[in-house]
Amino acid sequence: MSLNDNRAAIGWRRWHRAWLVIAAAAIVFAGLAIAGPLAVAYAVIGFAVLAASVLFAMRPGETSDRETRRFVSAEPTDDPLPVVIAGLPDPVIALDRDGRVLALNAHAHALAPALRQGEPVSLALRMPELAEAIGRASVGGQEQRVEYSERGPRERWFEAIVIPVKREPDQGQPDLVLLTFHDLTPLRRVEEMRADFVANASHELRTPLAALSGFIETLQGSAREDVKARERFLAIMQEQARRMARLIDDLLSLSRIELNAHRRPDTPVDLVPIVRQVVDGLEMLARDRGVSVNVEAANALTVRGDRDELARVCENLIENALKYGAAGKRVDITLALATSADGAPEAQVGVRDYGPGIAPEHLPRLTERFYRVDVAESRAQGGTGLGLALVKHILNRHRGRLSIESTPGAGASFTIHLPALGSA
Ligand code: ADP
Repeated sequence: MSLNDNRAAIGWRRWHRAWLVIAAAAIVFAGLAIAGPLAVAYAVIGFAVLAASVLFAMRPGETSDRETRRFVSAEPTDDPLPVVIAGLPDPVIALDRDGRVLALNAHAHALAPALRQGEPVSLALRMPELAEAIGRASVGGQEQRVEYSERGPRERWFEAIVIPVKREPDQGQPDLVLLTFHDLTPLRRVEEMRADFVANASHELRTPLAALSGFIETLQGSAREDVKARERFLAIMQEQARRMARLIDDLLSLSRIELNAHRRPDTPVDLVPIVRQVVDGLEMLARDRGVSVNVEAANALTVRGDRDELARVCENLIENALKYGAAGKRVDITLALATSADGAPEAQVGVRDYGPGIAPEHLPRLTERFYRVDVAESRAQGGTGLGLALVKHILNRHRGRLSIESTPGAGASFTIHLPALGSA
């Protein structure tokens, strides 16, 4: 019986009982008014009618008025169901067999604010597949699972689990259906990111691979005897092979850093010699691009960290400044002990170039994997599009961060912020 049927039955019985009471009272009064031998008979009939009305109201096996009210109002009841549901950490809705809401918890209300006790759940959750699953569960008695997505400015995914419940063990069909939800959105976003990442990585590898196999075919065919062409093609092939190697190297580094993301390195490391060593290693590139590199540093600037990873961070930033900011002819590197926003000592390494700079719309996306302002320029510079993603992941692992500032036309400034141990 649905909640509405119950209400109709209760309303009808209430009227019926009222008329019986009125009729009984009328018979008793009539008997008293007559005041004769029939008076006793009238009193007996009146008493019998009164007893019948009380018995009718208490007929076993039917839902009482109080029992129905406990699901449709917030009155205190001895039914544990609403209390149990309220204490559960997931959104939970209890339904009758016709899909009307008997009880729900605050998480369910937050998920679908249009849900109302006593109303069909389908008014608030308009998913045909969900309605079908509720129907199947209440008839077949089997648990059902449905995945669905909610469209909107940001798509969200859910799994609804529909659990039929028999409150009386020997009952034929379930009289209650519990509906609970799992938010699959974070999981789906990770899956999407992973799929995008694999697609991007494959694309990046396929391009040099296609070039390599093209040149192999040419060397086996038309250019077989052409010594000059062979030399030129071999040089290009070598560069493509190096590009693939760099990409694989960056991909492996990223996955290694991600694997260790939650393990913070704790060896004291001085950043000053690291930066100086990196600058020395990039001297050829700086000379090649006609850029002068100036380092301004304290005697020591110590942080807790992994030496190789921090060298990689500095190398990526300084190399980018030399490659993309070469037009400015100058790169300034500063190492200083500063104070973070929360008052803690902070090591800062700034890398500033005076090149073309970066338009503001690109700044928030620069540390995404494979994001480049200009793909052709990045490839021409031997970039993989993973350098700043690596920087971000390494700094995260060191409980640090990267800040980027740029004025288009006036250059770019990348600053590493790390919790400092001290300086001299
Ligand atoms: P890539 O391997 O392409 O250099 P990165 O992750 O290191 O990848 O950098 C992402 C993009 O950010 C680069 O492709 C480039 O467009 C831009 N970029 C990085 N550093 C600078 C800079 N100093 N000046 C201008 N653009 C920069």
